[in-house]
Amino acid sequence: SLKCGIVGLPNVGKSTLFNALTRAGIEAANYPFCTIEPNVGIVEVPDPRLAQLAELIKPQKVQPAIVEFVDIAGLVAGASKGEGLGNQFLANIRETDAIVNVVRCFDDDNVVHVAGRVDPVADIETIGTELALADLATVEKAIARDGKKAKSGDKEAIRLVAVLEKVRAHLDQGLPARSLSLDADEVALLKPFCLLTIKPAMYVANVAEDGFDNNSHLDRLKALADKEGAPVVALCAAIESEIVELDDADKAEFLAEMGLEEPGLNRLIRAAYKLLGLQTYFTAGVKEVRAWTIHKGDTAPQAAGVIHTDFERGFIRAQTIAFDDFIACGGEAKAKEAGKMRAEGKEYVVQDGDVMNFLFNV
Ligand code: GDP
Repeated sequence: SLKCGIVGLPNVGKSTLFNALTRAGIEAANYPFCTIEPNVGIVEVPDPRLAQLAELIKPQKVQPAIVEFVDIAGLVAGASKGEGLGNQFLANIRETDAIVNVVRCFDDDNVVHVAGRVDPVADIETIGTELALADLATVEKAIARDGKKAKSGDKEAIRLVAVLEKVRAHLDQGLPARSLSLDADEVALLKPFCLLTIKPAMYVANVAEDGFDNNSHLDRLKALADKEGAPVVALCAAIESEIVELDDADKAEFLAEMGLEEPGLNRLIRAAYKLLGLQTYFTAGVKEVRAWTIHKGDTAPQAAGVIHTDFERGFIRAQTIAFDDFIACGGEAKAKEAGKMRAEGKEYVVQDGDVMNFLFNV
């Protein structure tokens, strides 16, 4: 399954955040297909639509979608040259599918900043530089290796070297590979290199309890992220780690006092799920109401395949009701009566929130 790597400079609040995520996370026993390691947190994706479906259907069980976070320690300036835990750090981040960059946006004289001052923009540059240098090394090695083949006229190698040189020029300007416009062929050519700066990225601004407004650190971070088109989630890791310890009643009271509708972690989890290019469709039966995870753009047979490979292989059609129609009509039977149940075929691109039944040959 797809994973988000949590990175950031030392002392920005990564562990505090990761621990809150794991405390909020699921019981490993319920997910036998997941390998649980100490640096992996598996959390349910908070989705209010599940509660709406459950209220209508009163199922025996409700099963949310999940998403995985990996705590990736060891990023320091010089990581790309193997400083600190540099090599391990780069290997770990290479295995993730998206990057959650935690940035310190709180002042606290008791918490040492590695560079001596709180400066989110400088921190992001430090991290960006390390990742870009690592990619540059990867790209240069590949150019050296395939350059000879390209010179001898190998068509495949010529195409590969051309795209690698394009990426090198971009990285040389200090820009991440993700901001380079590449066509689908070029993306496919680059895929085996697992470039770090091509992975989608977002920021978590770790702010003080009262740091959501009038916070110049946060404002500067947001301005930078805007330019990059990267999402930002502002939260206070210290508060989040307190919230996860509370039982439901205390949690509701605490959030109300803080003027919050939900924990900041919920916003983070949803943003990470989206960053990974994931979306949800539902199955809604009396036994179980369940959120299934698919990629944006997946077709109905691919969606069926997430439940069982047989469903994909023998796919005939999908009875589909848009989420809003399902709720507005008051369930499947009434949605069908109202003509809101569609029979969708192999080409149908599943929409977020679709409530689906699959018909298939065995
Ligand atoms: P990491 O090195 O990035 O994993 O950072 P930690 O999570 O270990 O946090 C470093 C220090 O900052 C610890 O002393 C935390 O208690 C403190 N810290 C973490 N989050 C916050 C926060 O939101 N506000 C404040 N004031 N301190 C925090």
